[in-house]
Amino acid sequence: MIAKTKYIPDGKKALKELPILHYLDADFVYYPVTSARCPEGETCVRGGQFVKVGEIVGTRKGAFFEQPMHATVSGEVVGYEKHIDNSGKVVDCLIVKNDRKYEMHSSIVERTDAEIEALTKKDYIQIVKDAGLVGLGGSAFPTYIKLETEDPIQVVIANGVECEPNLIADYSLMMNNPKEVIMGLIYAMKASGAPKGVIALKKKYKEIEERFKFALKEFTQYDIEVKTVGNFYPQGWELSMIKNALGIKIPQGQLLSKYGVLNFNVSTLQSIYNAVKKRLPVLERLFTISGDGIHNKNFRARIGTLVTDLIELAGGYKDQETPKVLVLGGPMMGTNILRDDIVMTHTTTSLIVMNNAPEPEEPCVHCASCVYSCPVEIQPVQIMNAYKVKDKDALRQLEVSKCIECGLCSFVCPSKIHLTEYMRLGKRLAK
Ligand code: SF4
Ligand code: SF4
Repeated sequence: MIAKTKYIPDGKKALKELPILHYLDADFVYYPVTSARCPEGETCVRGGQFVKVGEIVGTRKGAFFEQPMHATVSGEVVGYEKHIDNSGKVVDCLIVKNDRKYEMHSSIVERTDAEIEALTKKDYIQIVKDAGLVGLGGSAFPTYIKLETEDPIQVVIANGVECEPNLIADYSLMMNNPKEVIMGLIYAMKASGAPKGVIALKKKYKEIEERFKFALKEFTQYDIEVKTVGNFYPQGWELSMIKNALGIKIPQGQLLSKYGVLNFNVSTLQSIYNAVKKRLPVLERLFTISGDGIHNKNFRARIGTLVTDLIELAGGYKDQETPKVLVLGGPMMGTNILRDDIVMTHTTTSLIVMNNAPEPEEPCVHCASCVYSCPVEIQPVQIMNAYKVKDKDALRQLEVSKCIECGLCSFVCPSKIHLTEYMRLGKRLAK
């Protein structure tokens, strides 16, 4: 029988009810010198040097952009260590010993409303670039590059759909700070010249919708509307969300800006607000620890915090003698990792620890469930077969590059085949 599904358990209810523990005082913080998008990087500080919050400590270098690295505590530079970054890779990290004084760098001075009023489009883009802002929904794509498009932009979307199970960072932000999201959206509209803003939310989150509608009463001079979309997965994928929120069908592989649209995750918009209003880079974020192999907790922690600190604060692993499976990110799109000394970066959202080892894969029963469930309409089973014989041409013909790694094919497969992993491998091989 074909198991086609767009509905998956979202695992958020219990996590949303947990308090958020503030852990902003780690003894040492770690800054990866490289990242998945920036394979090279260098620091600009030396051992023994004192740095302040917001000070530039280095630069990561991508293929076509550079990203400044900022200190998130004040203290002394004490060396380098290797840890796991957000992609699960072992990377060199600069270490700063936190002096717990949180002295701010001289550049961190709040802008007045008059100063913000006088900002040009170019100024907004430069501010976002200098703050090193990237897509906090997980893409880590440089935010300034989206904003500096020369295409005429009609609408900027604040994407608050957060469809990945077990993640609650955006939900928590929207509940507590809807105004900062709205102001970030307004700044993004000004930076891109868009006359309209849309806040896209899941239909089932009525409480969030009400908060935004109430907060928008302060901003009636702007054309901003709340739109709700279905509760299915992967509704947060931008093409699906844009189709349902705006009625615009954008073909995969096309730039959204060519259709007059820019899309930003709500947390990214809050970071734009902080950069414009407070001249701040991203200093902290929400991180969730969940799964049956660990005590579940939500933390607010500084960028650079080691997740091992948070695991310890949470009470450590449960059932120590049982082998664990660790997933960095959400259960559908996350990455399996073998070590837990992960450094929290801009896009590190969650660690899931499972007690049960994954069920062994069984042979494909040709049920076609993976094909019918795939939101980008490719054929996971055929791609897996092409990968197994390392057939690059077949992988390209099967359009493996279209895969958004949503995890649905693995989720529906009755034979427990890790199809999404084959898709990742196939994408790499077909390049
Ligand atoms: S992971 Fe890729 S192949 Fe699998 S369902 Fe999602 S988009 Fe399709
Ligand atoms: S890979 Fe899994 S879901 Fe796809 S056809 Fe085979 S058994 Fe069915």
